[in-house]
Amino acid sequence: MTDAKDRLDVLRADIERRNPAQPEFHQAVREVLDTLAPVLAARPEYAEAGLVERLLEPERQIIFRVPWTDDRGRVHVNRGYRVEFNSALGPYKGGLRFHPSVDIGVVKFLGFEQIFKNALTGLGIGGGKGGSDFDPHGKSDAEVMRFCQSFMTELSRHIGEHTDVPAGDIGVGGREIGYLFGQYRRITNRWEAGVLTGKGRGWGGSAIRPEATGYGAVLFAAEMLKVRGESLDGLSAVVSGSGNVALYTIEKLQQLGANPLTASDSSGYVVDDKGIDLALLKQIKEVERGRIAEYAARRGPSARFVQGGRVWEVPADVAFPSATQNELGVEDARTLVANGVKAVSEGANMPTTPDAVHLFQEAGVAFGPGKAANAGGVAVSALEMAQNAGRVAWSRDRVEDELAGIMRSIHEVSHETAARYGAPGDYVTGANIAGFERVADAMLAQGVI
Ligand code: GLU
Repeated sequence: MTDAKDRLDVLRADIERRNPAQPEFHQAVREVLDTLAPVLAARPEYAEAGLVERLLEPERQIIFRVPWTDDRGRVHVNRGYRVEFNSALGPYKGGLRFHPSVDIGVVKFLGFEQIFKNALTGLGIGGGKGGSDFDPHGKSDAEVMRFCQSFMTELSRHIGEHTDVPAGDIGVGGREIGYLFGQYRRITNRWEAGVLTGKGRGWGGSAIRPEATGYGAVLFAAEMLKVRGESLDGLSAVVSGSGNVALYTIEKLQQLGANPLTASDSSGYVVDDKGIDLALLKQIKEVERGRIAEYAARRGPSARFVQGGRVWEVPADVAFPSATQNELGVEDARTLVANGVKAVSEGANMPTTPDAVHLFQEAGVAFGPGKAANAGGVAVSALEMAQNAGRVAWSRDRVEDELAGIMRSIHEVSHETAARYGAPGDYVTGANIAGFERVADAMLAQGVI
């Protein structure tokens, strides 16, 4: 065990040296490597096959120029990325993020997480991620369309239903997937539905794909509470973000009898003593693409907008970080614990800083890491691929049942694996090792490639 730990420390230092200025990637790598010592000690064949070394190096990294013209005729240049991280279990699968903070380190952190998350779904998908530093905020539909077309003109050379299947992430929703799919179809002259997921329902999309990540994060929290003999019914909840993950987290919480009190964007948050009015929030965020402050302005006296504040200061029983990486720090965790939080379920990718995760675990809070808790989105993407391959469309009820079953089994394997490796109740360790074992066994069987 000490040998395995030392070896992992050397690997981590090596990764940090060889990939400078990629703090998010380093953080994601460290979080995984910190939990793998027991499995490497138990399975010496993994070390002999250089498995961790191979897992840490993406199979392929593509960086490209994306030129586009704005509505006034000016030319802009953004950078596009696709990191094809690991295909031992299936075609690379993972979203595209359009946000000014996107760089190669961010895409690698997301792609690395995706390997384990996708393995946990059990649905035969490898790990990848992509995106651009393009900022869709404040752009017209026509500008977003021209950007997507230019982005896809290059990306189309690298993807395919059996190769690499992108989807949405921050800044990429149904509108962008539509423009991307249209351009792919035009360039290739193929109706290849399975090349992208998150498509519109009428042209190859799956029922409840937009809802799936949020729904899944709530189902995962419900499973964690069930182990402790509790349920979500009657509990208050804080939710950060106001994208599709946050919106459908709020929706599922309400369906299960909980009371979500908050939503946020980069300007601050709203808290609503009566519970969030979801129809109003959807109207503002999905239809009007407006700011969160607007919610408080229209909702009346039960709601207020807190500029620059963080939702974690609002007392609640359960917390759903659903915005972006490192949005919940150790001070926030301290506040949540002091206010009696019982469970935290990550809808976003790596939203909780490592010291905050540690604090939750020390305090006995049930903590569901994103790799497990937010896997519902990519799981329904894999179901979309299955429907596309069979040229069928499943009912909403069928997809929702499948999603519930997948989230239950991800919870079960994470819980069971944690206990097996001496860390009962530690879903971080359980999810990392369970995901790692699936990918590692496939890589072992497929030889040194
Ligand atoms: N972007 C989502 C995630 O972080 C979904 C990816 C997908 O559906 O391929 O898992």
